[in-house]
Amino acid sequence: MAALNLARLIAVAADTIAAHAEELTALDQAIGDGDHGLNMKRGFEAVRAEADAFAAKPLPDALKAIGTKLVMTVGGASGPLFGTLFMALGKAIAADPDRKNLAAAFGKAVEAVAARGKSQIGQKTMLDVLQPVHDALAGDKTAAEIADIADAAAEATVPMKALRGRASFLGERSVGHMDAGARSTALLVRSVGQAIGESA
Ligand code: ADP
Ligand code: MG
Repeated sequence: MAALNLARLIAVAADTIAAHAEELTALDQAIGDGDHGLNMKRGFEAVRAEADAFAAKPLPDALKAIGTKLVMTVGGASGPLFGTLFMALGKAIAADPDRKNLAAAFGKAVEAVAARGKSQIGQKTMLDVLQPVHDALAGDKTAAEIADIADAAAEATVPMKALRGRASFLGERSVGHMDAGARSTALLVRSVGQAIGESA
């Protein structure tokens, strides 16, 4: 894999979250408490503010530090879950990962999120995007294909009934809306693909 420009990746991810913050808020307003856009924006701006320090670290340490920062700044249910994702990824990834190591490390990270959230696929959460992205990564899909798979997976949460998180309090009334965390996860997946594509 081409050398990863982590500072650039952080900038693309933070820009994407900022550009979609209102959309994420609107999704969370429909079946949650409407804070997901602000939560994510606050967290990714905090990561952006220290991008150079993160980028100076070896990749595993950088990802762990980003995860810790997200836990401290995102808040809500999603903060600890995104934080866990990045921390677990940092634990399992190599300093200079090839595709196989990236896929395996991402698999560990998805497992860690599921354990932390006591959640599984089909419950209308971020996991419904993370799991298909892992499967695509373990296969031979390109970054653009994986981004499309992530978007489709977020879209596929619309007809689901929420069984985890605040949206689950609504029961059947959660049906017909996209899960906010699934959408933000798909946005992050596309950002990463875009930033990696630029440096390839
Ligand atoms: P809160 O629900 O505390 O307001 P956010 O609005 O920031 O937090 O995040 C909500 C998102 O977090 C949901 O859309 C869902 O994707 C994700 N989420 C919540 N609980 C869980 C869980 N137990 N497992 C996986 N994801 C979850
Ligand atoms: Mg919320």
